[in-house]
Amino acid sequence: MPNAYQSMSTESLDEEIKHLETEVAHLRDQHLKLDMARGKPSPQQTALSKPMLDVLDSSTPLVDGDAIVDNYGTPEGLPSARRLAGQILGVDPKNVVVSGSSSLNLMHDLVAHAFINGVAGAEPFYRQGEVKWLCPAPGYDRHFKVTESMGIKNVPIPMCEDGPDMDTVCELVEGDPTVKGIWCVPKYANPTGITYSDEVVRAFASLKPAAPDFRIYWDNAYVVHCFGGTDDQLLDIFQAVREAGNRNLVYEFGSTAKVTFPSSGIAFVAASDDDISEVRKAFSVERVSSEKMSQLAHALYLRDLDGVRAHMRKHAAIVAPRFALVQSKLGEGLGSLGVATWSNPHGGYFVSFEGPKGSAKRIVALMADLGVKLTPAGATWPYGKDPNDSNIRIAPTYPSLEDLGQALDVFVVAVKLVSAKIARE
Ligand code: PLP
Repeated sequence: MPNAYQSMSTESLDEEIKHLETEVAHLRDQHLKLDMARGKPSPQQTALSKPMLDVLDSSTPLVDGDAIVDNYGTPEGLPSARRLAGQILGVDPKNVVVSGSSSLNLMHDLVAHAFINGVAGAEPFYRQGEVKWLCPAPGYDRHFKVTESMGIKNVPIPMCEDGPDMDTVCELVEGDPTVKGIWCVPKYANPTGITYSDEVVRAFASLKPAAPDFRIYWDNAYVVHCFGGTDDQLLDIFQAVREAGNRNLVYEFGSTAKVTFPSSGIAFVAASDDDISEVRKAFSVERVSSEKMSQLAHALYLRDLDGVRAHMRKHAAIVAPRFALVQSKLGEGLGSLGVATWSNPHGGYFVSFEGPKGSAKRIVALMADLGVKLTPAGATWPYGKDPNDSNIRIAPTYPSLEDLGQALDVFVVAVKLVSAKIARE
């Protein structure tokens, strides 16, 4: 169906473009400096976790069960931190390693391990010639960079409403032994906000990979990050793997980056008995043991899943109005034009926006010109190449509500002008 601009007469469209250009000129004169680029919590959100800084002082016993906190040891993470991470991911703590402050870092470590040493006794990637990685797109740009940086060939996979297109995933994973992994954000995905359906999770769990060293990188970064209405339910991947008669197929990741402090949270990985034992061996080459003061502070402060959920409700109270503002501004500004669609997630950090074909780069450039920074167009695709040049990731959490409102007003005008010009070309 033609959009509102495509349905206009040439004269009306020229008139509309002129009118929008005048609006753009006014906005340029305001010399705005706003940022909707990265998924970061706002200062109000990080302030929620400041009391965690008070749970440790010089009188705190630096032990955790049998584990010593103020010296080397317990490389798999403190027992209380593994318990907490196990509850967050819904896995047995014995299958969890808590290490460092960045889950992306752990993902990188494991791809590097596969590259340098090989997984489950297979040849290291560097000796296998070309290897491939599946990248559901739009997806998380930093995932794609990890595999790209090691020369692994990133293959885009279409994203559907309920997860990656599993027909394509199955065909590639089961038919091509050079396919070694897939990036997944199964809950409140970055950037589409969708949660994988039970059918999709079961299809992942039932995969019979052609490559024995294939692993699913199940990045559950937003597992406790519901901000609106009912929390999406994600099927337990490890349970599904067991039910499918599979074993060593999944690495699951998580962190408290967006629970407590980004870059100063705790990060964790979970895997099957065999895989986690290999992960521990691989990590032991890189570190004697991980930073444990932060693990202790997190365990003392958040305590358990109930503690995490209570804390996340405070985040939700701050974040929900921002996401609601995105919906109302886009709805009011663009709803009747038929030029774009956008996601309306119940959790996570992003709204995924689809404009007309060939519009994303132009919209992002115009926004930059008007003083509003957005994630670069194309970033949500492997190698930065969005085949339709239509997807833009909106990250509404960091700006204040007032700044966000202003940025969205600018966005609406930019989308209108670019869409009108595309209709004229
Ligand atoms: N995974 C996803 C899907 C993300 O969106 C992000 C950050 O935006 C990360 C991982 C980074 O997490 P961490 O800070 O634990 O490395």
